[in-house]
Amino acid sequence: MLKPNLSEAKKRTNKEVLTKSFEYTKLDNLKELGSGKKYFIRTYGCQMNEHDTENIKAILENMSYVETDNYEEANLIILNTCAIRENVHNKVFGMLGRIKNLKENKDDVIAAVCGCMAQEEVVVNEILEKYNYLDLVFGTHNIHNLPRLLEKAVSKKEIEIEVISGEGSVLENLPVKRDSKFKAWVNVMLGCDKFCTYCIVPYTRGKQRSRNKDNIISEIKQLVEEGYSEVTLLGQNVNAYGKDLEGNYGLSNLLNDVAKTKIKRIRFVTSHPWDFTDDMIATIKSNDNIMPYIHLPVQSGSTKILKSMGRMYSKEEYMTLFNKIKSNINNVTITTDIIVGFPGETEEDFKETIDLVETCKFDSAFTFAFSARVGTPASKMKETVSDETKKRRLNELNEVVNKYAKIANDKYLGKTVSVLLEKESNKEGFLSGYTDTMKLVNVKASEEMLGQIVYVYINDVKTWSLNGEIRS
Ligand code: SF4
Repeated sequence: MLKPNLSEAKKRTNKEVLTKSFEYTKLDNLKELGSGKKYFIRTYGCQMNEHDTENIKAILENMSYVETDNYEEANLIILNTCAIRENVHNKVFGMLGRIKNLKENKDDVIAAVCGCMAQEEVVVNEILEKYNYLDLVFGTHNIHNLPRLLEKAVSKKEIEIEVISGEGSVLENLPVKRDSKFKAWVNVMLGCDKFCTYCIVPYTRGKQRSRNKDNIISEIKQLVEEGYSEVTLLGQNVNAYGKDLEGNYGLSNLLNDVAKTKIKRIRFVTSHPWDFTDDMIATIKSNDNIMPYIHLPVQSGSTKILKSMGRMYSKEEYMTLFNKIKSNINNVTITTDIIVGFPGETEEDFKETIDLVETCKFDSAFTFAFSARVGTPASKMKETVSDETKKRRLNELNEVVNKYAKIANDKYLGKTVSVLLEKESNKEGFLSGYTDTMKLVNVKASEEMLGQIVYVYINDVKTWSLNGEIRS
């Protein structure tokens, strides 16, 4: 049993980051382990987790498992979890209760938890205490070991736990079963060294480590050959790409090289304002296939709270960057993340956040009430904002955010925009996709048009989506 260890997870050393290649030969003896069996996987959290799930699915299908979207008919259930918010924690443990009922009534069900929650010492202790009917817990650093871990879990009676709390390595060549045939996630860097005081990611994902640029470019060239139109470069702090590598090759260089692959659309998330350079702005501006959409988390409009969050910028510095991006990149959309109710946040601090939103008029914002994550510095701060006040501030903030989201969308009425049609919409006979500026568009179109980039005339605007008709 290898349990997570918070103090190990905190450590940062100068040790060289190892790049490992997935060893397909390790699968050789296990290719039939899932023969005649179904797997169900549920993913919580960010795009990084969604992409990990794509790797897990491919590994399982290499072992002959077949996917089902009904957990009750699965022989293998995996929950790929997120540790960032309290509500996911509750959802995961709720699901574990349902899995217990299933396991009591059905033999031959293997249940596993992986992802960021599995990296938390406190969670694994809770699992051992209350949910020890689970078969397997594995972490974010050892997805590649899944075949071996499953083999053990199938033959063992007691729970198998393998969670490594090190700084992590870079894994190349993992199999992948992509959810979309048109757009793809591409990891460019892993982990984070920013240690914002509220955030658990640096402990669950390890140190900041960038993939070799040649490996990234060849993955994207392959995607172009396979007909993909869009890639999203992923990193917890994607702007820091290259800082841990030798030389002077950063995200702006990488974006330029990715642009040369002629992939039609390039996006990248998530940007930390601290690492957003003028070069990046110039690169986005000068490449038509880099989308004018930037997710730029501000977290608070109060410099005092930003300092306490360890964000390394003031409200004024954020505004300077925001204005620079707006004035340099034509038609750019900027979205953000905001936390309310951080320890020490007064009404005055909260008002500064509202003022910032009123000034920036974000196209959209993911808003959250602060919830302490065990092991982070913020969890040791005295909570000064009651749950009731957090709820009230969140509602107030959401009203302002929604107002500007609708105003931003209203500007599209009567305009023609390009949209990558990527999936069937909830409405029959309609497809949906995103504009270059990341606006969701629903349009009447036949299934054969999936994957095409079309021009859509917008004739109806909602707060979170646009409706229109295809123009040739
Ligand atoms: S930069 Fe992002 S991932 Fe890194 S610690 Fe801060 S909030 Fe977490």
